[in-house]
Amino acid sequence: MLFIAGYHPIVKDLGPTKERTCPHCHNRRFWLLQRRRYYLSLFFIPVLPLRTRYGERCPICGYEEPLSAEQARHRQQEAELNRRAVTENWNEERYAAERRRAGLD
Ligand SMILES: [Zn+2]
Repeated sequence: MLFIAGYHPIVKDLGPTKERTCPHCHNRRFWLLQRRRYYLSLFFIPVLPLRTRYGERCPICGYEEPLSAEQARHRQQEAELNRRAVTENWNEERYAAERRRAGLD
């Protein structure tokens, strides 16, 4: 019997975090919080998560800085709020109110 096994990451964008200047491309943008979960796959189907890594990535050039799980957990709330602000097209007033309510300011 033939088994085809693999090991590959599945990357999930968790949302934009802070506006920063990239040390690589020098553009100023909101960086993206990402979770990269590595799976053991059988027949190209991910079956077992083996490790998880977090990072923030420049949306222009893709330069990435690793984060600890603890750092990622702290930024995840802000990333979720920013993602909602973009997808729901909040104005400045609502954004400021939601940040205060979430305890981010
Ligand atoms: Zn960059």
